[in-house]
This record gives sequence, structure tokens and C-alpha cells, in this order.
Amino acid sequence: MSLLGGWGRFPRVDCKITTARSEADVRAAITETPLIARGNGRAYGDAALNTGATLVMTGMDRMLSFDDDTGVLIAEAGVLLGDIIHTFLPRGWFPMVTPGTKYVSLGGAIAADIHGKNHHIDGSFRACVDWIDLMGPDGTTRRLTTEDEMFQWSVGGMGLTGVILRAQIRLRAVETAWIVQETRALTSVADTIAAFEDTEDVPYSVAWIDCSDGPHHGHSLLLLGRHATQDDLPPHRAPLEVRHKTKIPVPFPAPPLIFRGLFLRALNGIYWRRGARKAGESLVDWDSYFYPLDALRGWNILYGRGGFVQFQCALPNDTAAAGLKELMDTIAEAQTGSVLSVLKRFGPQSGHVSFPMPGYTLALDFPANDRTLALMDKLDRITLDHGGRFYLAKDARMPEAVAKSDERWDAFAAMRAKHGLAERFRSVQSERLGL
Ligand SMILES: Cc1cc2nc3c(=O)[nH]c(=O)nc-3n(C[C@H](O)[C@H](O)[C@H](O)COP(=O)(O)OP(=O)(O)OC[C@H]3O[C@@H](n4cnc5c(N)ncnc54)[C@H](O)[C@@H]3O)c2cc1C
Repeated sequence: MSLLGGWGRFPRVDCKITTARSEADVRAAITETPLIARGNGRAYGDAALNTGATLVMTGMDRMLSFDDDTGVLIAEAGVLLGDIIHTFLPRGWFPMVTPGTKYVSLGGAIAADIHGKNHHIDGSFRACVDWIDLMGPDGTTRRLTTEDEMFQWSVGGMGLTGVILRAQIRLRAVETAWIVQETRALTSVADTIAAFEDTEDVPYSVAWIDCSDGPHHGHSLLLLGRHATQDDLPPHRAPLEVRHKTKIPVPFPAPPLIFRGLFLRALNGIYWRRGARKAGESLVDWDSYFYPLDALRGWNILYGRGGFVQFQCALPNDTAAAGLKELMDTIAEAQTGSVLSVLKRFGPQSGHVSFPMPGYTLALDFPANDRTLALMDKLDRITLDHGGRFYLAKDARMPEAVAKSDERWDAFAAMRAKHGLAERFRSVQSERLGL
């Protein structure tokens, strides 16, 4: 048994960890004991933890075939998005949808049906998945396409329908490894929402927003982006050069004061003013635009031994402005939270249990302690009052009643019971949420 956690290091539980290197390994594990599949452990909470058996899939990391004309890739579930980028971006291909870190596995991206900065245009990860090979409770592998019911439950189903062994996905053709970024500095939530709506045809958009109680409360930096063409580059720049960047290690946790009132206000203010000075258009490499946090190695120790929790909710379009205001006022009042609160626009909903709904999503980190956990209960209530929902890939503490207020999870639990999935595939999260 080893002590294991998610990216937030809260909770950490004793797990029996096995690494699968082949389909036969997965079958042997499934038939032996109930388990949960784990990718690269980037879900924040307890979605990829099972105290009985946690089956690590990053040992199945082979790319099986690639078509240079169409960008169609078949790969095992343990392949990381970062490896896909380093292999295929030099050949002019980039993932269709990517989260804020490249260190996620293909299986984890599918199981959480991750979203990127382009959800309003391209949808979630499912948009690029043609099929998955899923091993079910009896050790049989089925190839599921978008036509299959079980595909719709599995993409976004958090590993609770079986173990994804491999998948076929489509990459996006790009001319360069660069992004034309436009930064807009805004001073209120209403202006930020208006700017998102104004720029609906821009492929990528994300805003950093100040949730502290300082003078910059509600100020935001909206980062818009599109893939640069060769014409956008200065003549000396290699269009498809893809470098491995040196990472800055985070040697020790930040002092807890950083996450409290005065410091939080100051840090947010500095960040906004610095961003505002750089407002306008610039050329940014793919890594800096999509994965700024990946530049810091092991930043998840910043919050100290107790770890941290992320709150991420989605609010529908018609209540988003009021809901965001109430959430942000409540966070500001508590004088705790992260320097980076992230706001994104969502497009249409798809799949049976995927997180996105048309509207906005707000995400921010809190140090894990009694005070912030109590605050998050309040944020749950505000989200529900505004017709919102929560992202299981970030959750570590939600009560069952809150998760089940999204009635899709009741239907999911019933489907799991009917197909004998609940006996074989379980996570600490699924038990907590009664899935
Ligand atoms: C810095 C950072 C930024 C992030 N930004 C975003 C973002 O912008 N958008 C977003 O959507 N998410 C984001 N995430 C969350 C992350 O994308 C998801 O949690 C993703 O699922 C992690 O993939 P993983 O391989 O690490 O999977 P894990 O964390 O190991 O597992 C996540 C879930 O996938 C299941 N799973 C993993 N592999 C398999 C498999 N082979 N078969 C079946 N089930 C499997 C697990 O059971 C678990 O339920 C971010 C995370 C971090 C740390």
C-alpha cells in the first residue's frame, strides 16, 4: 500500500497501486478486484484513487499509428498529450482540445471529457474522439464509437464504466507552433462577459479574474488566441520548432500568508497591472499560451502539507453574470483563495455526463482547511441557486446531495447498477458521491 493523492494532494489515501503494461495486465487486474483506472494523476481530488486497487495506465503509452494526411492518431490510453505535441507538432499537428496542462493522459482526457479554451467553438475532448476500446467488468474489450450508448456514458464518466485501453483521435492541422495572442485588460465582470461575447469567433479565450477583496476585485485579463499562420511570423522564426523548455522547480511550499487577504490583494493587483501594461497583440509560443503553469515543476506543493482543493463550477448563460458576482463577492469576503482564478466561456452541452453547459465556468484553488471547506459549501449553494453544476475532475469534497442535484448523475448511477459496473469500477470519489 502507498499513500496516493490527486494533483491537489487532498485527500491522500492508502492505495494498492498496480501499473498496467498490456491489455492482459488490465484484464488480470479487473477480474481480480474492484478498481479504478488512473492516468497521470492530474485530476485534483479523489477521482483516480481506489483504496483497494488503483490501476495506473501510463505504462500503456505506445502510439500505434498516425496518418500524416489526415492527422488521425491511434494511441494507447497512457500516452500523454505532451508526448503527442512533441511528436506531431513539428509535423504540423496539434491536439484539437487541450486542458491547462499537457501532462494528462489520453485516457484521463477522455474519461473527464476535458475542455479547453476553445469549448465555445470546438466543444470538449469528445469532439476529436472517433472510438475508444473499453474493457468492461468481465474483462471483454469493446470498440465503442459515438453511436454507442456506452461511449456517451464513458466520455466524461470518470473511469466508472471500465478501463479505456486505446483510442482513435483526430489532431488539428496547424501551420506554426505559435499563437497570436491578444490581451485585453478589463475592470469588471460585466465587461469581461461582454468581451467574451464580442469575441465568440476567436478560437481560444480565457480570462484571469481577481476574486480578492482588493481594489482590483473583478478586474480581469482576457487572453484571446489563434494559431499563427506562416505570414504572422517574422522571417527568421522557424514555424514548427518545438522546444523542451527548462522548468523552474518549486523547492518548498509558499508561506500560508500568501493565500490570505493582504498578500492576495497585492499579488492580484501586481499581476493585473503587469498584464494591463502588455495589453495588445503579441506572438507567443504554444507552451506559454496553453500551459503557463507547466513551467513550474511540482507547483502543487505550494499550498503545503495539507494540500489544496479546486472549486470549479459552470453557470448557464442567463444567470452567469449574477452568479459570478455572488460567488466572487463571497470569495472576496473570505479573504482566501488562489492568485489565479480562471474564467472560460462554454458552448453547447454534449454527451450524457460531460461537465460543460452553455455559459461560463469559474475555477480557483484554495488551501485545504476547515475554513475554505466551509466556504466551498457556500459556493456550492450559490452555484445551485443559479442553476449551475460542478466538475468532477476537480472535486475532492462535494457532498453526495450536491453532486446528485445534477440529475444526470442519478441516471449514471442507475446505469452503472444495471450493467454491473458499480461492483468492478469504483473510486474514492464515486463512493463519496454515491455513483
Ligand atoms: C494545472 C492543471 C490544469 C488543468 N486544466 C484543465 C482544463 O483546462 N480543462 C479540463 O477539462 N481539465 C483541466 N485539468 C484537469 C485534467 O485535465 C483532468 O483531471 C484529466 O482527467 C487528468 O488526466 P490524467 O491522465 O492525469 O487522469 P487522472 O487524474 O489520473 O484520472 C482522471 C480521471 O480519469 C480516469 N481515467 C484515467 N485514465 C483512464 C483510463 N485509461 N480508462 C478509464 N478511465 C481513466 C480516472 O479514473 C479519473 O476518474 C487540469 C489539471 C491541472 C493539474
